[in-house]
Amino acid sequence: MNYISTRGQKGKVSFKDAVMMGLAEDGGLLLPESVPSVADKLDELAKLSYNELAYEIISLFAADIPETDLRTLIEKSYSSFTTPEVAPVVKKGGIYIQELFHGPTFAFKDVALQLLGNLFEYILKERSEKLNIIGATSGDTGSAAIYGVRGKDNINIFILHPKGRVSAVQEMQMTSVTDDNVFNLAIEGTFDDAQDIVKAAFGDIAYKKRYKLGAVNSINWARVLAQIVYYFYGYFQAKKQGAQKVRFVVPTGNFGNIFAGYFAKMMGLPLDKMILATNENNILSRFINNGDYSKKDVVQTYSPSMDIQIASNFERYLYFLCDRDSKALSEKMAELKTSGRISFSSDEMRNVHAEFATFSTSNELTEKTIKEFYDKTGYVLDPHTACGVSAALSMADADYICLSTAHPAKFPDVVEKATGLAPEKPEGIAKLENLDKKCITIENDLERVKDFVAKHV
Ligand SMILES: *Cc1c(COP(=O)(O)O)cnc(C)c1O
Repeated sequence: MNYISTRGQKGKVSFKDAVMMGLAEDGGLLLPESVPSVADKLDELAKLSYNELAYEIISLFAADIPETDLRTLIEKSYSSFTTPEVAPVVKKGGIYIQELFHGPTFAFKDVALQLLGNLFEYILKERSEKLNIIGATSGDTGSAAIYGVRGKDNINIFILHPKGRVSAVQEMQMTSVTDDNVFNLAIEGTFDDAQDIVKAAFGDIAYKKRYKLGAVNSINWARVLAQIVYYFYGYFQAKKQGAQKVRFVVPTGNFGNIFAGYFAKMMGLPLDKMILATNENNILSRFINNGDYSKKDVVQTYSPSMDIQIASNFERYLYFLCDRDSKALSEKMAELKTSGRISFSSDEMRNVHAEFATFSTSNELTEKTIKEFYDKTGYVLDPHTACGVSAALSMADADYICLSTAHPAKFPDVVEKATGLAPEKPEGIAKLENLDKKCITIENDLERVKDFVAKHV
């Protein structure tokens, strides 16, 4: 399988090159050149363990990695999870909940970033190359990325977070990793300041080449690919527990996770509509409800990992909505850049409504959902998952699988406010307080950060 850019201005690249490239060189996102179908193999796939299933799915897209190597990479990636099921499904209050938080940082991003870290290490070794990852985080991505590459050969990682503006658990998760190849930089500024510095460093092409900068954000195809697997797994588990008409509910920020589900459906997984759950940052809900894709200011909510306005993975879906016409897609992206919005035809909106439904949850409803679900079932939801559960509860009759994207102990404040009890801390969170910390405070200044990276590669 080779990869093409959504913008259509660059030639095809292999899987390994797509992993190393992240963003396509014409500014588009990489996609496989065709969508493989597994529609006639579902019965066999349903019998497999998580890792076996991951191999069957991922190998369709990674022809340039030999079977034994790929199996080893998958085993290694998911051995860091606390359950061999990796993404188990439990049924609570009539809803299926697929728990994606059993990895080392207790959020679903581990499923993708554990694999991406191992893929990077494997490809770099083969090519005798080095990589210096730079990223900005408002919390979850940074910690999952750090855990994905800690201690690995030929990779350094520099993660910028806004000093004092990430949750206590997130900060401890990042700064308690003291491996030599991990650098936590606490910026005296906001998340946007951190993000601007990272973008500017990547924009300096000479610097980027010289210091072999790489990114781990959710536009990397390998991240989407790793996530496709759990839609298959979750569907099979829910079927075994009696589900009929299966709808996935996905708490969404960058559209990465839900795009993986849409892709699984294109591969032949018989899903009914995908349900896109948002918080008060509801650009994607406005788009699905009435074709209004226009930027507004980001507001802070109880579910901070979904506090996003422009969803970086949305372009991948738009490419399919435009019937794989790169020119039409490029026009839409240009419109967004110049006017801050994209417009859609009524035909396009008909296609959107055939695939997606949506629901936007306020802070008040998030808290209420955590409380009522706990009272009814004894099960504690994290605030992101609660946005999904409240969407499912608002909708018509179907079997809903709500993706649980984080462990409640990662966001204890709102959970305690809602239930009156602090969520129980798993061992991996409880032990963080006593670990040594490694973090450098740094001025909100591009040159300072560039110097720091240059001195530590
Ligand atoms: C990143 C994140 C999301 C949003 O995922 P996207 O792929 O950006 O849509 C939801 N919940 C949690 C806990 C996250 O960390």
